[in-house]
Amino acid sequence: MKVGVLALQGDVREHIRSLGDCGVDAFAVRTATQINSVDALVIPGGESTTISKLARAFDVFDVIAERISQGMPVYGSCAGMILIANQVLDAIDGQESFRGLDVVVRRNAFGRQVDSFETDLSFNGITEPAVRAVFIRAPWVESVGEGVEVLAEVDGHPVAVRQNQLFATSFHPELTGDNRVHRYFIDVVCKQSLKAGVN
Ligand code: GLN
Repeated sequence: MKVGVLALQGDVREHIRSLGDCGVDAFAVRTATQINSVDALVIPGGESTTISKLARAFDVFDVIAERISQGMPVYGSCAGMILIANQVLDAIDGQESFRGLDVVVRRNAFGRQVDSFETDLSFNGITEPAVRAVFIRAPWVESVGEGVEVLAEVDGHPVAVRQNQLFATSFHPELTGDNRVHRYFIDVVCKQSLKAGVN
């Protein structure tokens, strides 16, 4: 399986390493041809406003949105969660998302950069021990549509969600050296949806 990491801005290398550790062929993608050549895509953390503007500037915005609507498995982390959400609160004027995931997400919901934190999460689908999660100016999920599964929460706010082939976390598992969240994406989300022929 070929997995692309959208390489317009954000912590691309860390995701490539985590995915590589899961035994898949992972590489940076930033052109339409590259994006069309992968079976699944990771959209990393960074700054959602910048990533969406760069996706327009590099002329890949519509390609990504189209592949998502056709059923490509996607994992969006932090800014990536914002970028695949159907609705974004506290967005900047004109901020665009690729859409697909039926959730309302609130940007910077946990506060500013100084309010960044780490915590241990119980994650439905990942067995013990708890997942150490790093939150950096993170969004949370304000509400979910039908068919969206909440996998982890902080103080009652969903921070990991899945809707069929679309998966998102508010936090950054690529920073901890624990690859279980990437493994969940590859072994559960991608394998189930690719087997079901969604893509
Ligand atoms: N606050 C950022 C945004 O709105 C996300 C931060 C992150 O990805 N670590 O895009």
